[in-house]
Amino acid sequence: MSSTNSPGTGGMFDWYFKTNLLMRILIGLIAGAVVGLIVGPPIQVIQPLGSLFVRLLQMIVVPVIFFTLVVGAASVSPARLGRIGVKTVLFYLVTSAVAILLGLIVGNVLRVGTGVDIAVVEEGRALEVEAPSLVETLLQIVPTNPFQAFTEGAVLQIIFFAIVFGISLSYLQISDTERLKSAADILFRFFDGGAEIMFKIVRGVLQYAPIGVFALIAVVFGTQGAEVVGPLALVTFAVYLALVLHLLIVYGGILRIYGFGLPKFIRRGREAMVTAFVSRSSGGTLPVTMRNVSEGMGVGRPTYSFSLPLGATINMDGTAIYMAVCVLFIANAIGMPLTIAQQMMVVITAVLASIGTAGVPGAGAIMLLMVLSAVGLPVTEGTPQALAYAMILGIDAILDMGRTGLNVTGDMAVTNCVAKSENDVDLSYWKD
Ligand code: ASP
Repeated sequence: MSSTNSPGTGGMFDWYFKTNLLMRILIGLIAGAVVGLIVGPPIQVIQPLGSLFVRLLQMIVVPVIFFTLVVGAASVSPARLGRIGVKTVLFYLVTSAVAILLGLIVGNVLRVGTGVDIAVVEEGRALEVEAPSLVETLLQIVPTNPFQAFTEGAVLQIIFFAIVFGISLSYLQISDTERLKSAADILFRFFDGGAEIMFKIVRGVLQYAPIGVFALIAVVFGTQGAEVVGPLALVTFAVYLALVLHLLIVYGGILRIYGFGLPKFIRRGREAMVTAFVSRSSGGTLPVTMRNVSEGMGVGRPTYSFSLPLGATINMDGTAIYMAVCVLFIANAIGMPLTIAQQMMVVITAVLASIGTAGVPGAGAIMLLMVLSAVGLPVTEGTPQALAYAMILGIDAILDMGRTGLNVTGDMAVTNCVAKSENDVDLSYWKD
């Protein structure tokens, strides 16, 4: 190794480090799918190689949120921070509602689930998810013990504490007392350096991404690949079609309005998109999402340090689409198609359910239970909807990959638009 900055120069793995990273990741993705389909379930032995990649990313999630958000909040006025917050949340809500409508349209047009005959078995216990009350949910954002929030990875609580800390730091920086002012400067530099170190680590972890991606994809295709060619092919197609339409129409549209081209946006954000796709975790992908948005798209820290952690927690357009299509699938499969009123109910509950979905693998499938109960189809052991739900669960990993990919893409698209409206994008990044 000739230099401490370049991990693989002069060694036997030279060819590996010299090949373009994205090329390597894409090769890992395709090779993983092919090998998984050929080998089948025994491929699960390589699961640890994939888990290693996800764990390495998760390792940096909490520090990266805290370091970047403290610096972000300390760099702008509280009023501007408030504006960024309101715009971001509004964008997230509106795009999620549109996502559900799109999912319902595609699901209705393709008539997902019709023809899948499911017979009633016996009655039994309900598998329901209780929706927490709004007041309780809002109160939970304030941590009673920030250190506990860190150890538990409670993202909204960490965001709250980091903003309060960052704003207080900014006041200290303009203090008249020299002692406080110099302490604040040192702290600011400390957090600034901490954030940079986290990004250095992300860069290192991404060198391992091709292998991790290969293993993650091979395991999913090896264990679930065959099932998506059966009766579930249509619902899988419907979910992916709606995801792609949302990307092209909704994100393509809002990015255009703010002066960004979709192809360029995809090129600059694809590491995050692929990482989300294979890791199935918006939360775990966060360090890569932040890197792509800051180093690839030129978005400033005040915007992305807030909008991305928040997005990874509450903005789930892909999950919203998945819920809409799957509720239609289940209702049609059991011969109880949804009325328009019930579909409107899906729009409302699925927005809430997608907000409540954690950015971890499989969380959306659990929140789907909430939407099903809201439309009068509670998943009760032995009921037909329980069987239809189990079918969907059987291919959850395949559906989760696509929806997580779109969830993260949505966070990046909204971040760019909010940043542009706040003059917080270095447009030279978008020139070439
Ligand atoms: N896996 C998704 C995410 O992390 C959540 C879901 O299961 O829908 O964004």
